Amino acid sequence: MDAAMGAKLIIIGTGPAGYTAAIYAARADLEPLVFAGNQLGGQLTTTTEVENFPGFPEGILGPDLMFAMGQQAEKFGAKTIYEEVLSVTREEETGLFVVSSHAAAYKAAAVIVATGATARYLGLPGEKELIGHGLTACATCDGSFYRDVPVCVVGGGDSACEEAHFLTRFASKVYLLHRRDTLRASKAMQQRVLSHEKIAPVWNAVIAEYKRDADGELCGVVLRDTQTGKLSDLAVKCVFMAIGHSPNSGIVRDLVDIDSSGFIITQNNATATKTPGLFAAGDVADPVYRQAISAAGMGCRAALEAERYFLTL
Ligand SMILES: Cc1cc2nc3c(=O)[nH]c(=O)nc-3n(C[C@H](O)[C@H](O)[C@H](O)COP(=O)(O)OP(=O)(O)OC[C@H]3O[C@@H](n4cnc5c(N)ncnc54)[C@H](O)[C@@H]3O)c2cc1C
Repeated sequence: MDAAMGAKLIIIGTGPAGYTAAIYAARADLEPLVFAGNQLGGQLTTTTEVENFPGFPEGILGPDLMFAMGQQAEKFGAKTIYEEVLSVTREEETGLFVVSSHAAAYKAAAVIVATGATARYLGLPGEKELIGHGLTACATCDGSFYRDVPVCVVGGGDSACEEAHFLTRFASKVYLLHRRDTLRASKAMQQRVLSHEKIAPVWNAVIAEYKRDADGELCGVVLRDTQTGKLSDLAVKCVFMAIGHSPNSGIVRDLVDIDSSGFIITQNNATATKTPGLFAAGDVADPVYRQAISAAGMGCRAALEAERYFLTL
């Protein structure tokens, strides 16, 4: 495919999936354009210490890790476009993808979608500033920072129960806050959680307010009883939100299959979607793991698969 026909690879997203895909694709001379969207560096730029990304025995700050990934991608020729993609379509006659932002329309023979998934929070005042300071949506990532202190998990489904159970390894007490009086999780999971000595369910409860200490760290929550409206205090050092994720798959909705939660379904355990030349990597196509390293791994696979796709053109 020659460049005059618009044979460029476009990568949408600058999280671990997008940047890893960019490193591989740039090194393979695919000259990728990488769209940053409104969160340059992706979700990890909203956290502090990352202790589970291989290669950093002392840990690394999320923004530093992402800055380094961006530099590595650009060193090999990836070009970052600081625009948000509004739509992706495919021209029938040419098979080229048209990736449109507010500023322009770009054509490419292949596209890797690495737009991530946004954890759902409650929308309470001051919530954004608390993320990484006692509020998180990832027990695997942050659980071990909260040893021998009380924490709470918000949610009533299987993920909330799994997170609560995992947190019993570290926390002194795990309150499971649910707005109803029964869990939505499977019976087996409910039994596992409700019989655990460290887990205390708090039924009919929603968080009305977050409390912070003098350093700005979370030190508790005010709960509202959904039946009586009564307010009460709960002292916890961290709130783990487990009320679901919204995958950012809307811009390619017409070109891919998505599951009931909006995650892109890829083919044969790889990163190809049902549209030839369109690949998906990272959290947007991963309802299960949603980790930086698994996103990076998918980014690598997507770039290698895109490389192979180019050989067929
Ligand atoms: C607070 C917090 C702490 C975490 N801690 C850890 C941890 O310690 N260890 C760990 O392994 N994981 C951690 N995670 C999870 C990890 O951040 C994610 O699994 C990972 O970032 C997913 O990478 P991704 O590349 O798929 O997407 P993301 O990192 O979400 O990046 C998505 C990218 O797509 C862009 N984008 C979205 N829509 C558009 C659009 N329309 N146009 C253009 N660009 C778009 C965004 O701007 C962003 O650049 C944490 C997550 C959070 C929120």
